Amino acid sequence: MPVQPRADLVSLPDYVAGRTVPGAIKLSSNEVPDGPLPSVATAIAEATTNVNRYPDASVGKLAARLAAKVDLPVERIAVGCGSVSLCHQLMHAMCEPGEEVVYAWRSFETYPIASQIALATQVKVPLDAEHAHDLDAMADAVTPNTRVVLVCNPNNPTGTAKRRAELDRFLDRIPSSVLVVLDEAYREFVSDPEVPDGLDYVRARDNVAVLRTFSKAYGLAGLRVGYFVGPAEVAAAIRKVYVPFSVNSLAQIAAMASLDAEDELLARCETIVAERDRVRAELIEAGYDVPDSQANFVWLPLGDAALDFAEHTLTKKVVVRAFAGDGVRVTISHPEENDLFLHAARSYRNRS
Ligand SMILES: *Cc1c(COP(=O)(O)O)cnc(C)c1O
Repeated sequence: MPVQPRADLVSLPDYVAGRTVPGAIKLSSNEVPDGPLPSVATAIAEATTNVNRYPDASVGKLAARLAAKVDLPVERIAVGCGSVSLCHQLMHAMCEPGEEVVYAWRSFETYPIASQIALATQVKVPLDAEHAHDLDAMADAVTPNTRVVLVCNPNNPTGTAKRRAELDRFLDRIPSSVLVVLDEAYREFVSDPEVPDGLDYVRARDNVAVLRTFSKAYGLAGLRVGYFVGPAEVAAAIRKVYVPFSVNSLAQIAAMASLDAEDELLARCETIVAERDRVRAELIEAGYDVPDSQANFVWLPLGDAALDFAEHTLTKKVVVRAFAGDGVRVTISHPEENDLFLHAARSYRNRS
């Protein structure tokens, strides 16, 4: 008999990263277009002199900074190698084989992968007609076997965000033994004040957690740092299943330097938000259906035309992220790059 890996992994989908095509503009991974601020680049460069040493295994300084930032005890925080890693840790920390995880679909593609690896049972609740979470249906899907409900707010890839009144009503319906995790990777791009800060719920309720990342607004996607804030018992369990040293020393330093430069980084987000609203308005004017986005990308629910559209923009040297049969997600960038995309989108509508 040859060696055999787990048979169930044959059906595990690969994580599909946004494509990079040399010479083309990349609008496929929800990155911010600008590189690190000079202060952050300098901190990273200085930290390279110490890479013969292991990183701080407890990520102590960064965790303390984050605790101060969110004004909660450090016991309630777990830092991870990106929030993708934290999703995996969360599943291992919360679910025994066969226990249920409820999440919306379509949403972030890490959720099915992390759940399956942890042998959790996945309960996928379709998005509503507005491409948003159907919170009533998600609450209905909770059973005595449910351990975690994931709510991606704003949702990747549709950009839609749930407002306070709906989230209040939803959380009131969720049993106290079920952990609700608000994945707020795009929180810094939210412009509607009716979209609540998940940390307010973390403070007010014992069964709510948030995931945040340095990959998007803070521009550190290549260094891999994210954090969890939630019940202390869950944070401790997440730290338990952490792969030691996976938040590397450059990432720890860069995250702290980014917190020092937070005002500058958040100012860059405002430019992206203005561009997002402009791009959406121009797409609607060109005849596209585009749901309201509170993130740094827009969603075109093109259905069966999704792949065709992406192939067309690629001929115009613009890479977008197509989800076959469903839609296309387009990251907002600098005005010139957004204009090139808009040009490609208009020419798609006008092709004969
Ligand atoms: C990009 C993204 C993340 C961040 O992942 P990292 O591992 O921190 O880079 C988390 N959740 C969602 C929904 C995302 O789109």
